[in-house]
Amino acid sequence: MKLNKFLDFIMMHKFYGTEVRPKKIDIASAKEPSLSFLDCFVTLFLAMTFLMVVSAQDALAKVRVVTSVPDFASIAGDVGGDKVEVVSLAKGYQDPHFVDAKPSYVLLLNKSDLLIYTGLDLEIGWLPVLVTGSRNSKISSAASQGNLDASTLVSNILEVPITKIDRSMGDLHPGGNPHYMLDPRNGIPVARGIADRLKEIDPENAPYYDERLKDFVGRLIAKIKEWDEKLAPYKGTEIVTYHKSWVYFSEWAGFKEVGYIEPKPGIPPSPSYVADLIKRMNQLNVKLVIAESYYPQKTPALVAEKASASFLTLPSSVDGREGIKTYFELFDVIVGDVTSKLEGMTKSFNSTNQEGG
Ligand SMILES: [Zn+2]
Repeated sequence: MKLNKFLDFIMMHKFYGTEVRPKKIDIASAKEPSLSFLDCFVTLFLAMTFLMVVSAQDALAKVRVVTSVPDFASIAGDVGGDKVEVVSLAKGYQDPHFVDAKPSYVLLLNKSDLLIYTGLDLEIGWLPVLVTGSRNSKISSAASQGNLDASTLVSNILEVPITKIDRSMGDLHPGGNPHYMLDPRNGIPVARGIADRLKEIDPENAPYYDERLKDFVGRLIAKIKEWDEKLAPYKGTEIVTYHKSWVYFSEWAGFKEVGYIEPKPGIPPSPSYVADLIKRMNQLNVKLVIAESYYPQKTPALVAEKASASFLTLPSSVDGREGIKTYFELFDVIVGDVTSKLEGMTKSFNSTNQEGG
């Protein structure tokens, strides 16, 4: 619309084409040169300035949200609709514990009205330095209106240590397990908390955020019911995961985690540890070994093979695999991949038994 008006404006002044530089001036067209080059330049300059001011006002009107990881970006975008501009710093295919602190992130944070992050020290290796560098008082401290630690919204944080764990000891989860977004039920309080914060920052649009939150929660509850039904036949499934990032998922799905490829979150396994793990898995009935794509795939694949289990590479975040653009799509993929793998194993087990019997 604005662009059309601008083009009309230019057309009106015959700025482009041969009209702008009449080759011969005769008496009949004596008025034409009155639109001099300077006139054209000035009118164009004014038009451009007008456009820039208008688009700057448009941008100002939106709440600028920056999230550490894409799950929050998906939810904030869903709840905030066209009143927000959302960008995630980390990509879903990156290990959220280790992200490159790029200078461009400082710029994004400098212009942000709201920063949403996981907390529980998940981003401690890269986010605080960026926030300090951004010199943005709106997001600078945990008490700032534009600073939202999403872990404060979740009531069932798992593995909170009783004694203080020092991160220098190698454990990446010193404040409790930070991978709580892998239980879709936690999407509900997180969405509520995001809506509350958007309403504080942009009270004028509070009814809009309320409406969108209601819609989001309704859709998520319906999807959770659908995923629950798909997972129900596999309750009690014994699994091993690479990193301790699936504990919330397992609690929700009713899976039993019997071991981890990493002896401690962030510590790579030694050959003797791997041998012990395989031995233990063979005594149990481990069906699946799960790892995210950003972990080495060779060891979990080998462990699965030696323990007669299946190896499954799963995305653990929105954007963790091509095509996963929303929090809903993330669980569609996770639940879909897990259940089809387990269903395939049950089928092959049954057919082997029938052939044998
Ligand atoms: Zn972790």
